[in-house]
Amino acid sequence: MNLPRLRKDLKALVGTSNVSDDFYKVSKSCLDEVSRRVFALDKLAPFLVARPIRLEQVSQILKYASENRIPVFVRGSGTGYFGGEIPRESGIVLEMTGLSKIVSLDRVGGFVTCEAGITVASLNRFLKKHGLWWPHNPGSRNWATIGGSLSSLGVGTFSARYGYAPDTLLSMKIALPSGEVVKLGTKARHDMSLYNMLDLFTSAEGSLAIIGEATLKVFPLPKNRKILLFFFKKLETAVRACREIATSGICPETIEIEDRARFTLEGLAPLIELESPRVQKLKLEEVEAVLLTGFSGSRRVTEFGAKETAKICTDIGGRSIEDKAILNLYWKAKTQISSWKPRVKANTLKVHTCVPSIPFHNLPQFESKYMSLGKRHRELTLAGVGYYIALPNFECTASARVMFDESDPEALRAYEIFTREIAEEVVKMEGTPASTFGMGTILGDVIRDLVPRSQTVLAGRLKQALDPSGILCPGKKIRSPQSTFRSLRNASTLVEAR
Ligand SMILES: Cc1cc2nc3c(=O)[nH]c(=O)nc-3n(C[C@H](O)[C@H](O)[C@H](O)COP(=O)(O)OP(=O)(O)OC[C@H]3O[C@@H](n4cnc5c(N)ncnc54)[C@H](O)[C@@H]3O)c2cc1C
Repeated sequence: MNLPRLRKDLKALVGTSNVSDDFYKVSKSCLDEVSRRVFALDKLAPFLVARPIRLEQVSQILKYASENRIPVFVRGSGTGYFGGEIPRESGIVLEMTGLSKIVSLDRVGGFVTCEAGITVASLNRFLKKHGLWWPHNPGSRNWATIGGSLSSLGVGTFSARYGYAPDTLLSMKIALPSGEVVKLGTKARHDMSLYNMLDLFTSAEGSLAIIGEATLKVFPLPKNRKILLFFFKKLETAVRACREIATSGICPETIEIEDRARFTLEGLAPLIELESPRVQKLKLEEVEAVLLTGFSGSRRVTEFGAKETAKICTDIGGRSIEDKAILNLYWKAKTQISSWKPRVKANTLKVHTCVPSIPFHNLPQFESKYMSLGKRHRELTLAGVGYYIALPNFECTASARVMFDESDPEALRAYEIFTREIAEEVVKMEGTPASTFGMGTILGDVIRDLVPRSQTVLAGRLKQALDPSGILCPGKKIRSPQSTFRSLRNASTLVEAR
């Protein structure tokens, strides 16, 4: 690739200050935290970063890239956990954080239209001034862009009631690889005029088109919120409680189950000494699962919901956590803490295995597989699982984490094998190994082998039709023959080979 020429052409399209050899500020600070070894970043071919500030520029870059057959990799803020935003070949990285304007607000209807590079937190700061909010609330809210959240099936604290990020998407403007800009959707989510293209393009992780603008459903800011936390000696009982709450007719805004390791590491440890008397009093050694639930709305309704929930949980043996300080700390860790600390110490990295969606009734089975398979890999430390439950379908996203020494090639290999084992178990349960965070690139090989070939072929035809030159995120989703795609396995092989 002729990089000097590419640089000159990109500068002409987006301006000198919006072309760089490196990622821009926000995105770069996220990248610094990522494991360079897991993503094999030290092996990347040279690329140029272009930061457009208008959708028209996105379109021009795509047209240019198609005509010149230059790969384009789309990036929001770079907080994705599976490397979907990492360029795998020499080409252009299109960093979307420059498209950060609010286009319009319909306060009466409850719709906001914004550009795809605005962060979740900035959007909500704007909405708050109007007494509104967008209820997608990821831990990465301060950085994660709307385009990234829609393209990675974002899940968050309030997903029990509002679903995944794309569930609140009504319409969007996308730029196709040819440069053509198309508006999809209406102000009604379920549109049968043609095909369900919102879901097609949001699940593409940037491999079919680039999201430039989105119209989202927004809601009045809740006047009251009530949070409840229960400890259970058995995970099965927490699952039963969850089912009873959800089928009782009350409408929780939050339902999350965490195993003890996850609760301790992510819920308590960031804010309180685990040896403190306050934590000791919780008798965590007796706890297998923690259930977090919450209600918002009028005071009467939230109080009613809380009372009913407390009855359901305590009747079947749950222990209600009444210590307000613990409850508030835990809620703060969930909803306010934005520091990104994937490194526990020097080389020790805390990462996800795959993040699957499993049938809800399989939750205890998933946990026991996670434990038994994980313990077989002595190089890995299990960091626990958090389960987000979205109603009314009891969609259950399992965020399973492990810690390991990233400088140890054996640990990297163990991580890869464990991730594959977990994915295989999920497929046996008829769940999907790729849910929130998407497939990215590091899960590519793990997941592709598990998807029926007929589906892969069909997806390949779609890709071919929409992106005939194969310029958009080559190697992502569909393996491209010309791609130098580096899988997780290859990454560990490279490390071993050194
Ligand atoms: C501390 C921390 C906490 C997190 N907590 C959560 C959480 O609670 N819930 C959750 O869902 N995620 C969470 N994540 C993961 C991550 O933040 C989300 O996946 C986020 O939505 C990604 O947004 P981004 O702007 O950083 O996108 P990136 O990471 O840059 O990109 C993510 C994917 O989307 C594609 N993409 C980005 N922008 C576009 C676009 N405009 N058009 C098409 N494709 C695009 C990229 O190619 C890539 O495949 C967390 C991450 C961190 C670091």
